[in-house]
Amino acid sequence: MNLEYAVSTPAAAIAGAPSLVITAGAGTGVASGLPDFRGPQGFWKAYPPYKQLGIDFVDAANPAHFEQDPAFGWGFYGHRTNLYRKTVPHAGFHILRELITRLSLSTFVVTSNVDGQFQKAGFDETEILEVHGSIHHLQCTVPCSRSIWENREQISVNMDTMRAERIPCCIRCGAAARPNVLMFGDWSWISDRSDRQRQKFEKFIGANGACIVVVELGAGTAIPTIRNLGEQLGRRYGAKIIRINPREAEIDPPHVSLALGALDGLRKIAAARELSGN
Ligand SMILES: [Zn+2]
Repeated sequence: MNLEYAVSTPAAAIAGAPSLVITAGAGTGVASGLPDFRGPQGFWKAYPPYKQLGIDFVDAANPAHFEQDPAFGWGFYGHRTNLYRKTVPHAGFHILRELITRLSLSTFVVTSNVDGQFQKAGFDETEILEVHGSIHHLQCTVPCSRSIWENREQISVNMDTMRAERIPCCIRCGAAARPNVLMFGDWSWISDRSDRQRQKFEKFIGANGACIVVVELGAGTAIPTIRNLGEQLGRRYGAKIIRINPREAEIDPPHVSLALGALDGLRKIAAARELSGN
């Protein structure tokens, strides 16, 4: 299949869609320079000190660190907070925003990323569902209450030991605070903020369900939450899915896929005749 043909179907679907759901997985931000945690080698490339300690992503993203040794827990999450704060969202986010404005699409974003990149790229906070929470919000480790508050802390991390030099505290009880992010084997995550976002998303689906196009970005099969959500919209509401994924692009018709990274895929779709008007 030539590329012009491959991008014309998704471009036509977006051009004819009143509503757009953007679903985003871990591969979405790779073009912004964010590390890919796929497999231990990918994780250790981003965090060499953890290789020495024999710790992989699942071990590092463990809520037990915050209870037993919060400086160690905050080493990983503090570094990621700082990284996401200084990351500039790649042009693909702006391509989407331009299409949304130009075509007057009603839109909702569903992301498994905790990095806040959609907000940073100017997407409306009230139209985003962060299914695994947000690193830019904190909660108590105990937790002493269901409070969730914005993370305004400066957290410097010693990159040799991967330990934080300061630990954010709970605004209520003074115990260590932790990111309001769903970790592996996590029974303490307070989901209230994500639950409220989900209610808004469900309302959006209730109002727009019959005419949705799903643009899925960098969502893999390892943690299939995002893929499953799009496919469910396909089955339940007849939504058409445009899967953009460089490694796991497969999907059955009538859905379509592009085996490209998020930025490349969006660039090519936006440049197609159906959307560019050329
Ligand atoms: Zn507390």
